[in-house]
Amino acid sequence: MNIIIFGPPGAGKGTQAEKMKHHFEIPHLSTGNIFRENIKNETPLGKKVKSILDAGELVPDETVVDLVKDELSKSKYDDGVILDGFPRTVAQAKALDSFFDENDKKIDAFLTLTVPEEELINRILSRGEGRSDDTPEMVKNRLSVYHKETAPVLNYYKEKGAVKEINGVGTIDEIFDRIKEALS
Ligand code: AMP
Repeated sequence: MNIIIFGPPGAGKGTQAEKMKHHFEIPHLSTGNIFRENIKNETPLGKKVKSILDAGELVPDETVVDLVKDELSKSKYDDGVILDGFPRTVAQAKALDSFFDENDKKIDAFLTLTVPEEELINRILSRGEGRSDDTPEMVKNRLSVYHKETAPVLNYYKEKGAVKEINGVGTIDEIFDRIKEALS
């Protein structure tokens, strides 16, 4: 099953994707985690994207799309993937659609986590993961980038009729129950 978990920063995508990974036994692909890992290991990719992540901006589409295509070509994703943090622009969504078409795959579910903006900000500022982009200024920037660049992705998939909205307010388990129900 190929699942996209979508939502603004702080909506809980990473947390829910981890739970889904264990429950459904589908690998989790988080572009943000891959970038952070590369930054930590000071790889060429890490050096290229560090200042972009620190500023809360988006990594160029071509870089992200190449990375995701490479990753999805690995056999561990043959039976499915939980995509978290990708696609983040309409151009990325279109590139993903073409890639899936070419490989006789499809998106089985597009889940969007809905959380009020005030709660998003509080969650990010209190999560204490030590991320360099979790400061108040960067959070504001990431939310504005989300509204400008990423929210249109939701409309793109809504037009295709594939979107399931999940109330993202509640305990981690309550939200996970809603996801399981949406996928059943
Ligand atoms: P995340 O962990 O999903 O919040 O991603 C952290 C940061 O990584 C974002 O603020 C972007 O700078 C970068 N990033 C992750 N995924 C993408 C993507 N699909 N397109 C562009 N930039 C991305």
